[in-house]
Amino acid sequence: MNVYDSLKMESLLNPHGFNLTLDEKNADLIILNTCHIREKASEKVYSELGKIRLNYLATKPTVVVAGCVAQAEGEQIFKRAKNVDIVVGPQSYHNLPKLLEKVKRNEKWVIDLNFDEKNKFDNIEMLNNPKHSSFLTIQEGCDKFCHFCCVPYTRGKEYSRKIPDIYREAIQLISKGAKEITLLGQNVSSFYGYDQDNALRSLGWLIKKLSKINELERIRYITSHPKDMISEELFIVHAEEAKLMPFLHLPAQSGSDKILKSMNRNHTRDFYFQIIEKFRKYRPDIGFSSDFIVGYPGESDKDFEDTLNLVEHVGFSQCFSFKYSPRPGTPASIIEGQVPEQVKSERLMTLQSLLKKQQLQFNEQFNGKTINVMFQKPGKYKNQVIGKSPHLQSVIVESNVDIIGEIKKVKISKINLNSLVGKVSN
Ligand code: SAM
Ligand code: SF4
Repeated sequence: MNVYDSLKMESLLNPHGFNLTLDEKNADLIILNTCHIREKASEKVYSELGKIRLNYLATKPTVVVAGCVAQAEGEQIFKRAKNVDIVVGPQSYHNLPKLLEKVKRNEKWVIDLNFDEKNKFDNIEMLNNPKHSSFLTIQEGCDKFCHFCCVPYTRGKEYSRKIPDIYREAIQLISKGAKEITLLGQNVSSFYGYDQDNALRSLGWLIKKLSKINELERIRYITSHPKDMISEELFIVHAEEAKLMPFLHLPAQSGSDKILKSMNRNHTRDFYFQIIEKFRKYRPDIGFSSDFIVGYPGESDKDFEDTLNLVEHVGFSQCFSFKYSPRPGTPASIIEGQVPEQVKSERLMTLQSLLKKQQLQFNEQFNGKTINVMFQKPGKYKNQVIGKSPHLQSVIVESNVDIIGEIKKVKISKINLNSLVGKVSN
């Protein structure tokens, strides 16, 4: 979502005379679009600000801190980093031109932390999006308040965009070359957007509608919450719509009912298994990924075993896993039973080695098979091109002709943990 927001900021500032530069040292304006989800991400912002202060003494660019760290820390940022001119939250960056005007008038410590999702989406048209695979935010914010998570405080309450606005943006992206669209939302599965006739439409309905656009070849969506995965429409669209890729990111966080309850996830491990089974029934070749947190307060060896057991039971194609990071202001940061760092590290290593084993196993089933790959960018070496499989694996081929933006059949001949290697078959 931060990538999408950054593209929107670029589009917004373009008519005001700003172009993206790779020559950072000569930039007039530096925007750090920040993430507050874990302490490490959030602290990185201050080390970047320190580097900017030291390296750009001569050029003195205008410095903006945008995103969730801006929302969470507000004016504190000006105190910790004196070179910051503007602090702007993730729901108010559409005001950047006005805020930059204030800096021009020598106003100090310019700040905007308002929550006005509607304005943000209405005011910015994607100008520069030459990407064949594009993101499209359809829902933002979160009302679920998992006890470890800062998102409800930094992104605000759940908000779904209107169907005509989403459709218009999809057409725009496609007219600029997008062949794949990934629908984004903190809780994309709780999307319900108003249509022209004021009817409320679900995610499944939206996917069906978008899939009718001829030039659009692939649709994905991320991130879903298990609790919301109850709409029959969504299961059916997975079974019936070939443009919807056979892959689902469905964060489980933990395999222990005790920890899930303490996290306020509002579902059990059995419920998670039921959803997985149901998706497999409707779309047998579907691949699953998840997020896991290890070392959540109160997590015992037995609770961690339950997480390993859930992973064994499901069999994931790829996953993200993190050590629990206490976030200021969240309920979990002050409950008893904080797990020592050493234990968190050991558990993370154990979990990740199991997840890697599963990822390799998942990849191995494609050895010798021919699959559709959408090519997206050049690889590291001459003539190498990298694309994505339907299951979101990276696929590497060699080609002397330009195939970026095209979907080609590829015969897979080699399997790695993070990629498949093959040859384009004609
Ligand atoms: N909305 C999604 C859901 O409900 O699963 C997740 C969105 S969150 C931005 C991405 C992931 O960051 C979460 O799934 C969780 O695994 C991880 N995360 C969030 N807060 C965390 C924390 N305090 N410590 C470690 N990981 C965290
Ligand atoms: Fe955070 Fe996701 Fe829970 Fe919302 S549902 S609080 S975004 S982890």
